[in-house]
Amino acid sequence: MADFEQMNNLSEAIGYKCEGCGAPVEFDPATQSLKCNHCGCETKIEFNDQIEERSFEEIFDCEQWAGGVKVIQCQNCGAKEVLDKNEISSSCPFCGSPSVLETSELAGIKPDTAIPFKMQKQAATAKCLKWLKSRFFAPSEFKKNVKINSLKGCYLPTWTFDCNTSVFYEGQLGKHYTETYVVNGKTMTRTKTRYFHVSGRLSKNYNDIYVKGSEVVNDKYLQRIQPFDMNDYVKYDDKLLAGFEANHYTIQPIEAWHQAEEMIKASCQSEIVASYGADVVVYLNLSFTHHSKSFKYLLLPVYISATNYKNKLYNQYVNGVNGKVTGHVPKSPLKITLTCLLGVAVLAGLVLLLGAL
Ligand SMILES: [Zn+2]
Ligand SMILES: [Zn+2]
Repeated sequence: MADFEQMNNLSEAIGYKCEGCGAPVEFDPATQSLKCNHCGCETKIEFNDQIEERSFEEIFDCEQWAGGVKVIQCQNCGAKEVLDKNEISSSCPFCGSPSVLETSELAGIKPDTAIPFKMQKQAATAKCLKWLKSRFFAPSEFKKNVKINSLKGCYLPTWTFDCNTSVFYEGQLGKHYTETYVVNGKTMTRTKTRYFHVSGRLSKNYNDIYVKGSEVVNDKYLQRIQPFDMNDYVKYDDKLLAGFEANHYTIQPIEAWHQAEEMIKASCQSEIVASYGADVVVYLNLSFTHHSKSFKYLLLPVYISATNYKNKLYNQYVNGVNGKVTGHVPKSPLKITLTCLLGVAVLAGLVLLLGAL
């Protein structure tokens, strides 16, 4: 029994028990099964890959993620995660702090879809270390002694929207052209603009417009570890949380839809302007109708790593499928200064060389 207690602390997941020996099991990305670290027993998870969209009306009244989960909050950095309700202890994936407390908050909407982790934690740790050691601007002392304080598999919440959009437009656009004229017998050119009136209708099908569900990871970093492959989608299964966590969404679905709407508007406007080859928009009135709107709550697999250097915390992010790494890293002021000086020296050398020619 002592063994099991020790393992509970190690694995931090006791929601699912081994069918063979009763010890806690964890989701194993390599075999896509629930694996027992005690006896090695594996139970393969049969994922359902029939993904259903939610009709848009449900956005105000979604199926809730009740029962099997709880919400915890880090007392240090404030990040909120959804865990299996039986998980007993945890540290924060973002700052590594052990002071995480259960909140009375409900987990909210139940995810529809997830991309399961495919890469194992050890492999993600190795990728992350290699990445940190290869950062040019990182202080040499940091690279020599770098170690990862914590690395956790954490699903990031994302909303995706589908819709058929029709837009009626009316406006005035302008196109540049070049005019030649003669002054004192000399031919000159100048750019003029021809304005014209436009009106019409555009229809577009949008499939999977992504809007992030929380602010914990900056968009810039999420972009860098893309892509997440739609072919990897499976229907969400609570077993995915065995040994893993899900970051709790803070952006409500209706708020996310408004962001998606803005993206649609911008993409339609640029498509209309481009279709006329216009260089100038004097005005363009757009009137939108969205049909067959639907949405999904999707979880994306990302390992979050925390590294300390000189009492400062740096997070790295590893795509849990393709292993792409990005994130924060300490920068050496000396290396930055030297590189700038080198750049200035090269420029000065070029100027001198060009002057001499
Ligand atoms: Zn077992
Ligand atoms: Zn934290």
